[in-house]
Amino acid sequence: MKSYFNQISISTSGKIELKDITNDIRLLLEKSKISDGILLVYSPHTTTAIIVNENESGLVRDIESAVKSLIPWEKNYIHNSIDTNAASHIAGAFIGNSASLIIENSKLVLGTWQSVFFLEMDGPRSRQVKIKIIGE
Ligand code: ZN
Repeated sequence: MKSYFNQISISTSGKIELKDITNDIRLLLEKSKISDGILLVYSPHTTTAIIVNENESGLVRDIESAVKSLIPWEKNYIHNSIDTNAASHIAGAFIGNSASLIIENSKLVLGTWQSVFFLEMDGPRSRQVKIKIIGE
């Protein structure tokens, strides 16, 4: 059993922004030399999320705007007395911060229309996404 760890650096430019990181993940999978196993995409940040969905430019904008209406952003949250981003944390908690992907024959098993996205919800910031691959 082999194990590989690396990270992807991301800089975001908007408050809420989806970034397709599928190609970055594929490059790390190639580097890992693992051909059969599981790949975990993990965001160690509390105001971000990882999602798997379609990279169609209209849909990307639709998802970004749906995130804005997922929860009230202008509420009097308790956390906002020490920080100004409670809504970003809450959206992150609801959406989730990781995705597990299958590796088969040295390739990511994704549906035809599936891409892996990093979702920024408190940008702009510099972020890292952790990649752990286990297999052989
Ligand atoms: Zn905060």
